[in-house]
Amino acid sequence: MAPEQIQTREHDVPKASPLKIFIAASELTPLAKSGGLADVTAALASYFDRNGHDLRVLLPLYGSMDTSVLSIEIVPELEGMEMPVGGQTVAYDIVRARAADVGHDVFLLRCPDLFHGEMMYGGYDEHVRFALLSRAAIEMCQRLRFAPDIFHVHDWHTAMVPVYLKSVYSWDSLFKQTKTVLTIHNIGYQGVFGNHVLPDIGLEGSTELLDAEDLYYGRVNFMKSGVIHADLLTTVSPTYAREIFEPEYGMGLERRLRERHGSVIGILNGVDYEEWSPESDTLIPNTYTSEDLAGKEKNKQSLMAEVGLDYRIDRPLVGMVTRLTYQKGIELVQQALPDLMRKKDFSLVALGSGEHDYEQFFEWLIREFPGRAAFHRGFNNALAHRIEAGSDLFLMPSRYEPCGLNQMYSLRYGTVPVVRATGGLADSVRHFDPKTGQGTGVVFHDYDANGLLWAMNTALKLYGNKHAWKQVVHNAMQQNYSWDEQGAIYLNHFRKLLANGTA
Ligand code: ADP
Repeated sequence: MAPEQIQTREHDVPKASPLKIFIAASELTPLAKSGGLADVTAALASYFDRNGHDLRVLLPLYGSMDTSVLSIEIVPELEGMEMPVGGQTVAYDIVRARAADVGHDVFLLRCPDLFHGEMMYGGYDEHVRFALLSRAAIEMCQRLRFAPDIFHVHDWHTAMVPVYLKSVYSWDSLFKQTKTVLTIHNIGYQGVFGNHVLPDIGLEGSTELLDAEDLYYGRVNFMKSGVIHADLLTTVSPTYAREIFEPEYGMGLERRLRERHGSVIGILNGVDYEEWSPESDTLIPNTYTSEDLAGKEKNKQSLMAEVGLDYRIDRPLVGMVTRLTYQKGIELVQQALPDLMRKKDFSLVALGSGEHDYEQFFEWLIREFPGRAAFHRGFNNALAHRIEAGSDLFLMPSRYEPCGLNQMYSLRYGTVPVVRATGGLADSVRHFDPKTGQGTGVVFHDYDANGLLWAMNTALKLYGNKHAWKQVVHNAMQQNYSWDEQGAIYLNHFRKLLANGTA
């Protein structure tokens, strides 16, 4: 069944008073980021704030956070908070923080006993940490007497908020009018734990709200619980919103999602063009525009020198910036690229980290193709910008991609994306047709090595055709995926939800 996909604009509904919006999330750029989730929560928070809504944002104060860039202020009402965990009590407080690059205040959950160390995720007590984040968000509202119109939660880490509002906190009339919205950024991560954690997370008396089959098999699934109980479910592209109804993409949640089909909406993510624009990017050596691309070629030369690649005029450079995980289609790169590199003249620069096998593959590629293949293991935002600005093509052969941001950055940088038609990649890149001159990239459909080979060959041929290449680069750079449009769609749905009571 197809989900409802209303793409109306905010100005289509009558102007209403500002909304009270609470965002609870595990990541927010630039304070805590492992992927696109952080960019999206930051962009949405900033959009809601800019548009005059009454916003509260809560995320954890991780041990790895650079607190020297924050000015932290104690909030008396949010000191000395406690949460029962199993037979014990966890002490925490919530502070208000301001960061130079964030236009609004954020609240940080400070609990060094739980949020210590370098890692944001993983560990034996992960369920406690994110149950605490979810409950702390609710208790923060109680202490501040802040009654949100919309409780906006993101991915499994805060997906339990709707369950808590219907159980542990159901007595509190403060939340009588509150509607919950769960945004699914990636259904591949669900927060699944053994059901022995129920006393730790305070839900041992509320099992009727949880999936009975999971409980029977000894599990509790945070994301699934949110899917069952949130008033509105959004995900980050219209195509992904359709795909997750199918077993191939739903990752076991497809049945529960189909039950909620009228409440599932796909809204494509936007791009923060203040950070990602070649004409104003402070992280690249030479800025450039679609009218004057001279700076782009210079960026290519300096990038190639930086990563140890030989520059040759007319030899295309393919860029990749990605988590090296199952989702990202790296196995297709393993299968198809070495042979293609032997046959065709192009270079590759990859940035990312993740599964050992994939990292090893890129290390091997460097040795196999010296001067033509480069790999930087790790997370490096400035290098990501330089790769976007200095590459000719950008490869994203994802198995699945809820939205994907890099293909949209690539479009703006005139770095022609080569993508598989899935999720947000299908919604943001149109295959270029040399006959009509329409299209913004190269799009392949079948998830196999032949699909990728076809796409790479098509892209290399396109690069060799000066006239067509100029056209596709120009088309790509004209695309606009600004948050002003996408944020307004969220607001429109929030208002409909509040007006109708249901999605
Ligand atoms: P996902 O959230 O699945 O990782 P997205 O394309 O939605 O994928 O978002 C990835 C974001 O993280 C982009 O902003 C991208 O530039 C950034 N990113 C991913 N890997 C790295 C890396 N190794 N170094 C720097 N930035 C990275």
